[in-house]
Amino acid sequence: QLEQPVFKRVVLKVSGESLSGQNGYGIDAVTISSIAQQVKDVVALGVQVAIVCGGGNIWRGIAGSENGIDRATADYMGMLATVMNSLALQDALEQIEVPTRVQTSIAMQQIAEPYIRRKAIRHLEKGRVVIFAAGTGNPFFSTDTTAALRAAEIEAEVILMAKNKVDGVYSADPFKDSTAEKFEQLTYLDVLNKNLGVMDSTASSLCMDNNIPLIVFNITEQGNIKRVVLGERIGTIVKG
Ligand code: UDP
Repeated sequence: QLEQPVFKRVVLKVSGESLSGQNGYGIDAVTISSIAQQVKDVVALGVQVAIVCGGGNIWRGIAGSENGIDRATADYMGMLATVMNSLALQDALEQIEVPTRVQTSIAMQQIAEPYIRRKAIRHLEKGRVVIFAAGTGNPFFSTDTTAALRAAEIEAEVILMAKNKVDGVYSADPFKDSTAEKFEQLTYLDVLNKNLGVMDSTASSLCMDNNIPLIVFNITEQGNIKRVVLGERIGTIVKG
C-alpha cells in the first residue's frame, strides 16, 4: 500500500526542550537521534522538510533578563543557543545519511550558510533538510515567530509544532488541572482570545494573517511526525 503524504513542504518547529530528553537541560543523544530518524522517514516519503530549532534547553532571553542581563543581549544569547541545537540536529541527521543545510539569520560563515530564502527553497527542492538557526535574527522575537515567518516565506503548507510533554492544545494545563480538555481544532482567534499558550501572540498573529495552519502534536512518540504528514488526525489543528 502506497503511503501518500498530504503535505509537500512543511516547517517543523522543534523546541529546545524537546531535544533535552528527561534532563530538561542540554541535548540528549537518544532523543535527538530519535527525532532525526523521524525526520528521515518523512523525507523518504518525498516531503520537503524545513526545521526551526528553539533554544530554551540552553538559554531563554526572558530568564536572562530577569537575572539582570539586558533583554536584547539576553535574546542574542538565546539565538546563539538555537545555533548549538541546530548543529546538533544537523549532525544527528547526517549520521543517518540525511543531507542537510543549516542557515543562520545572524551571519556566521564558518559555521553555516547565511539565511537566503531562494537558496533555502532550492535545497528543499533537492531533498535536503534545511535547518533555520538563530531565530529571526532579532531580539524580542521567538523561534515560534521564526517558524511562522519562514513558513510564510518558503510557502510551506503547515507548521508542525512538536511538543515533548503534551500531545495537543488543552483548555488548561493537563498536568495541573484534571478537568483540562484537549481540543481537536481551534482558530487562531481562539488561541489569542483564550490565551491558550500554544505559541506567543506575535507568532499566532503572523500565522493567522497569512493563513498558515498549525498542527500541535507530541514528538516523543516515535512515528508521530509521519502520522501527521500522512494526514492522520492526531494532536490539535489550529487554523483560520
Ligand atoms: N530569540 C530571539 N529572537 C528570535 C528567536 C529567538 O531573541 O527570533 C531568543 C529568545 O531569547 C528566546 C531564545 O532565543 O528565548 C530561545 O528561543 P525560544 O525560547 O523560542 O526557544 P524554544 O522555547 O522553542 O526552545
